[in-house]
Amino acid sequence: MSDRPDDNPEAPQHHRVVIIGTGPAGLTAALYNARAGLEPLVLEGLQPGGQLTITTDVENFPGFPEGILGPELVNKMRDQAQRFGAVVKFEEATSVDLSERPYKVASDDAKYTADALIIATGASAKLLGLEAESHLMGYGVSACATCDGFFFKDKEVVIIGGGDSAMEEAVYLTRFCTKVTVVHRRDSLRASKIMQDRALANPKIAWQWNQQLVDILGSREDGVHAVKLRDTVTGEITEYPTQGVFMAIGHQPNTALFKDQLAMDATGYLIVKSPSTHTALEGVFAAGDVMDPIYRQAVTAAGTGCAAAIDAERWLEANDL
Ligand code: NAP
Repeated sequence: MSDRPDDNPEAPQHHRVVIIGTGPAGLTAALYNARAGLEPLVLEGLQPGGQLTITTDVENFPGFPEGILGPELVNKMRDQAQRFGAVVKFEEATSVDLSERPYKVASDDAKYTADALIIATGASAKLLGLEAESHLMGYGVSACATCDGFFFKDKEVVIIGGGDSAMEEAVYLTRFCTKVTVVHRRDSLRASKIMQDRALANPKIAWQWNQQLVDILGSREDGVHAVKLRDTVTGEITEYPTQGVFMAIGHQPNTALFKDQLAMDATGYLIVKSPSTHTALEGVFAAGDVMDPIYRQAVTAAGTGCAAAIDAERWLEANDL
């Protein structure tokens, strides 16, 4: 429900629930809160749909036996939430004030207040910033082995990084790929010993030590055929043939807006009172990848989005709001 006091166009619009983010977490929260008659306001952000929009086929979301394109899945989720009264706006939340209730959220276009706030701003895979990396994302370059590994069946791929994600994804990719080469910028791994041991013992995994990825060679039509690597010790540039590139240099939760206002772990993930989605602040809930450094799947994000909507609804009721 929204209303603007005194018909003053400058006054903030009030909503009982404001949801920030429109990946599977935000849109599932919107669906549940809309069906509960709360008419939630949903701010889409600059990348509506979040990380799903940079994957192509999604084959691991239950209910789509033939798979579904990431952007199409997001569109269906948005349509479903809107059908029940969610108000979805193509605006980015640019500031949030959680110092008093109702909470304040502003975009470049408008100001809002909210009794309850659901934060579903997601996380972004860290990328190197190479032009070819973004151009070929979804065309031979991926930042999610769990999502895209299957498409590289019987192919040779490289994985960039030396942390637990890189080790876990390298081992996972050996289920499909004939050869997986870990490209790491140093000569020792950051990953935990157990993950290192598992990867080092796998005969399908090869290693390129002291190598930095500097370019990816290929096209959207034909996919990837090689990477260019720079030796971090000698500076020598070489070409290494490969048919796929998996980036695993870490994820960054999108929490800059909430710095100094909400508790976060050392990486910036929002801390919730697990297994609920309550943050330390009354009436502020977090769902999806912004609070989940472990699973990071569309379906788990949808699950915590549902939980956040139910938590918010019960909290509003308990507080007569
Ligand atoms: P991470 O631990 O931060 O490791 C990132 C890796 O990428 C590092 O090896 C780093 O190299 C490399 N890297 C970063 N920036 C780079 C750049 N610009 N160019 C080249 N290489 C770069 O990230 P993560 O592996 O995603 O793990 C994140 C957290 O999740 C960790 O706490 C991890 O333990 C946890 N995790 C746990 C599991 C599990 O237990 N099953 C699985 C996945 C993740 P350097 O080593 O040289 O810095």
